[in-house]
Amino acid sequence: MKKSPSRSNENVYQRLGLRTIVNASGPSTRLTGGIMRPEVAEAMAEASQWCVDLAELQGRASEVIAEATGAEAGYVTAGASAALMLGSAACLAGLDPAKMNRLPDTTGMPNEVVMARSHRNMYDHAVAQAGAKLIEVGIPDRFSGAGVRDAQVWEYDAAITDKTAAVLWVAQAHSEPTLKEIVALAHRRGVPVIVDAAGQLPPAENLKKFIAEGADLVAFSGGKAIGGPQASGILCGRRDLIQSAALQQLDHDTYFEQWTPPASLFDKHKLIGFPASGIGRASKCGKEEIVGLLTALRYFLDENSDERHARYLKLCQEVANGLKGVKGATVTLVDKRYKGAPAVELAVDEDVLGFSARDLVKRLQDGNPSVHANHARVRDGLVVFGPSCMKPGDPAIVIERVKAELRAK
Ligand SMILES: *Cc1c(COP(=O)(O)O)cnc(C)c1O
Repeated sequence: MKKSPSRSNENVYQRLGLRTIVNASGPSTRLTGGIMRPEVAEAMAEASQWCVDLAELQGRASEVIAEATGAEAGYVTAGASAALMLGSAACLAGLDPAKMNRLPDTTGMPNEVVMARSHRNMYDHAVAQAGAKLIEVGIPDRFSGAGVRDAQVWEYDAAITDKTAAVLWVAQAHSEPTLKEIVALAHRRGVPVIVDAAGQLPPAENLKKFIAEGADLVAFSGGKAIGGPQASGILCGRRDLIQSAALQQLDHDTYFEQWTPPASLFDKHKLIGFPASGIGRASKCGKEEIVGLLTALRYFLDENSDERHARYLKLCQEVANGLKGVKGATVTLVDKRYKGAPAVELAVDEDVLGFSARDLVKRLQDGNPSVHANHARVRDGLVVFGPSCMKPGDPAIVIERVKAELRAK
């Protein structure tokens, strides 16, 4: 692309003819995640200037992730969703290259993944993508308001058969039954447990929590709180399963005899062969993402929770102070309400303004500059501003745009 001198002050998006947005929502994929630390971006650029053996790089990543999570092994994926797909493929195929070659066709193999109906979400498509069939258990009465119960352990027990390949447990503060209960049951029945912990960071302690509670595989997003590349994630857990995931994702266009995989990740002597391009090939992860994720993980672990909290609080205070006393809305700085982090809640008085919280979110995003607030609580009349993806200077833009919209009632 030609860079004309007159446009040299423009950023890469402007050169593409695009506007940038203020992300006062959070690291959503549709908003391209967050802002990477310059050190992470630099590590990615540096990584792009050499070639390495990809399996060796993942072998080193496995050691780094194992240390950070307490798991036997780890793997860098193209996101938590990719980690769920690869983890499911590992539970389906084990270390059998013939089965790996057949996925997502699971004819004749145990292919059922049991999960609570209340845990179903948009991302479990990744499990089905590997070839698994989702088996739902439980009636989540507590969410419909009709009662108090959620799925019971005995309902999982009743659903596990010789066709079961895994149990999927989605980590949320309110998830029931507990992971410990599910692990106890699944292991008694000889079935592995996959945990979707994509959005469970911070606190950083959660990197170790689910493994410590007995999960066989855990998926984390790299592009959310860790601050890694948008298209990165972590799969960690049992060594044999991570090995299977790796075998189904790496490029093996070579001879088995010629292949010298890193001993940190592969037990080559235990393998009878490897698949052609496994099901994971469509979610490949490049060296830049792997290095970026490992670098981001180091910074994530280095910044203690108090420092992170203080950084977030400063941005939120700026927004809250700037919006104090606005007409038609009440601003509140809340601490630790949203995954332990501070945020700013703006309660919209629809009677005064003539438009709702949902309308304000849309007005802010459609305006110029485009500001994306968090819409998760518009049903409660709240527009929420989260600090995790804001840059210095963004709070002033948020304040100005909100005030302009409130005046425009
Ligand atoms: C964000 C999220 C995912 C997907 O993570 P990616 O890293 O974007 O692939 C999966 N599951 C849950 C619960 C999530 O919140």
